[in-house]
Amino acid sequence: MDVCVIRVSHCEKEIFCFSVPEECPSCGEQLRGSRLQEAPVSLPSPLTNGHKTSCCLLVAPAQDNTHREFDGMSDLHTGVSNTAGVVYNYTQGGVVRDQSGWESCVSVPLVRPDMFPLLAQWDRYLDQFSDGPMWDPAWHRFDEEHHNCFTFCLGFINSVLAAEGRSSVSRDTFTHSFILPKMRRVTKYTTLYRHIQRHQYYMVDRQKDTQQDTAAKPDIF
Ligand SMILES: [Zn+2]
Repeated sequence: MDVCVIRVSHCEKEIFCFSVPEECPSCGEQLRGSRLQEAPVSLPSPLTNGHKTSCCLLVAPAQDNTHREFDGMSDLHTGVSNTAGVVYNYTQGGVVRDQSGWESCVSVPLVRPDMFPLLAQWDRYLDQFSDGPMWDPAWHRFDEEHHNCFTFCLGFINSVLAAEGRSSVSRDTFTHSFILPKMRRVTKYTTLYRHIQRHQYYMVDRQKDTQQDTAAKPDIF
């Protein structure tokens, strides 16, 4: 998904496309070269470069995530970024610290940018947690169902919550409040993108009050 999706408004329609069409697919009026009532708006991709994030939970397709795209069905792999964009993720061989490979993923910010004391500790917490016996293949076996990459991420988040004197968050709560809303956006965007690839545009009736994406959930810390 390298091309940017833009939204053009014309005759009570909204047209999603990669470039302004010659003529309006609804009324046939010349669009290109003519003055549009509103400038085309580009829709930000819901995917981010995980190595440019700081203190985020990252979700990416499990294998070869630079060449595969989210289709809502591929296995997902999760990790946590440190303050320098290194992605810590638990695999069969233990915790891996990736400096590349997470260029296209969903990021869930975990720490508010003004939480300076926690930000200062974050990398140390992450290193300490990753060095624990829970993640050492000599002590614990990776298990696809019960001891996997997400167990690691959630365990880390809860260890930081505990260190901050706060109560832990359950797998369900975390998934439903923090991850799923973002994944839904990816699915919507991917569907739209594929449609435009096949049909050049996607058109809907213009909404009176454009519905904004529901406000982002507050960060967990
Ligand atoms: Zn039109």
